Amino acid sequence: MITNTTRKFWVFLISILAIFWKKKSRRKWIVIPIGLIVAGFFIPQPMLIPVKGASTNDWDKQSFWAYPWGTSITHKGIDIFKKKGTPVISASYGIVVYVSEGGKGGLAAMVLGPKWRFHYYAHLDEVKTGALRFMKPGSIIGTVGDSGNAKGKPPHLHYSITSPFPYPHLFDGKAVHGWKKMFYLNPDTWLR
Ligand SMILES: [Zn+2]
Repeated sequence: MITNTTRKFWVFLISILAIFWKKKSRRKWIVIPIGLIVAGFFIPQPMLIPVKGASTNDWDKQSFWAYPWGTSITHKGIDIFKKKGTPVISASYGIVVYVSEGGKGGLAAMVLGPKWRFHYYAHLDEVKTGALRFMKPGSIIGTVGDSGNAKGKPPHLHYSITSPFPYPHLFDGKAVHGWKKMFYLNPDTWLR
């Protein structure tokens, strides 16, 4: 699977579907979870640049899928550079799935947004939200920092969007990890 979050999403979804499918009397109600999944794709996705005061000049358009990119091989998001302590805000609507510390992302937050897309905010200095909190575009998530593998580099927000449902038209046969582009969406698409 693409990320731990996508794997967990699929395990959760398949478990729910299995609960309905197992018992014949319940089987017809499987349209409820399926309907919810379909409905999720119709939720609009208004988008803001997720760093307060940042503009399109604060990230490099070419950095999405830049290669080589250390242990990640390719860079599957964008890096928005701003002073340490600048507020990191939610790009869209969503529910905080988790807040984590450690690993490459350092202090980070994952938000499930419209269309079943997971928005990942990493290298934070501080987190000011928590799991299961509802976010609107502009809700405070934390502050820009240099945690995780950004230590020693200029403070920035690593922002990426993943979808557990592939977008086949985004398959890129020429790029390294090109098939993964079906699952990692380029945030630049909505922020420019
Ligand atoms: Zn990055």
